[in-house]
Amino acid sequence: MFENDAIQKYLSAHNETCITPKAALIDMDGVLYDSMKNHVEAWYRTLSPLGIPCTREEFYLYEGRTGSSTIRLLFDKHFGKQLSDEECARIYKIKEKHFIELDEIRPMPGADRMLQHLVENGIRPVLVTGSGQGSLLRRLDHDYPGIFQPQYRVTAYDVKHGKPHPEPYLMGLTKAGVAPHEAIVIENAPLGVEAGTAAQIFTIAVNTGPIPAQTLLDAGADIVFPSMPYFADHITELIETLKNTR
Ligand code: MG
Repeated sequence: MFENDAIQKYLSAHNETCITPKAALIDMDGVLYDSMKNHVEAWYRTLSPLGIPCTREEFYLYEGRTGSSTIRLLFDKHFGKQLSDEECARIYKIKEKHFIELDEIRPMPGADRMLQHLVENGIRPVLVTGSGQGSLLRRLDHDYPGIFQPQYRVTAYDVKHGKPHPEPYLMGLTKAGVAPHEAIVIENAPLGVEAGTAAQIFTIAVNTGPIPAQTLLDAGADIVFPSMPYFADHITELIETLKNTR
């Protein structure tokens, strides 16, 4: 099986005998929603007119950071300027305005099947997002009814540190009441993968955007799937392999 090596590598690195997934800690943007194109476009439309020399593609690499940390990073990098909280907030408001004006965001194709298979296998879905975008958070119950109970959600409002810091995923473990080897992380972004592996959790990357798979492996992903429909087709098999590899 293609995953065996990856699982054994995780087990020996973490001194565990097996992975028994009881909870799946699931990122939102780029995993549950096909929203990254809109975020990227909104960032580009916000920061280009402010004189930041940027490409749309680079914003895929900042995914998972809080909005203010992305703004601070780029102003520091290009102008050597430290922004105040007020300046950051003003720029972030512009980004939110652009985001809302773009085309409606759709659920990620295949994500509903992926969630259904988790539930069938007795694994609790837990939302772990760095996002505070109310328009998407409010849609979760409509698009994925009954899946994410309120006590099993970690959002930008719950944590001090955004990804790549492990805090969001550590809080996901606490909310689910499980140990790292009793969970899996499902992510699409390099910084999210870093956060999952820093929390010592077996981290699955589903590559739903334009970045090379190698970038996700370099960030520490234990395994990379090429698309959400492909992952949904193989998740039950992966869970069986996780439980049976020692
Ligand atoms: Mg994401």
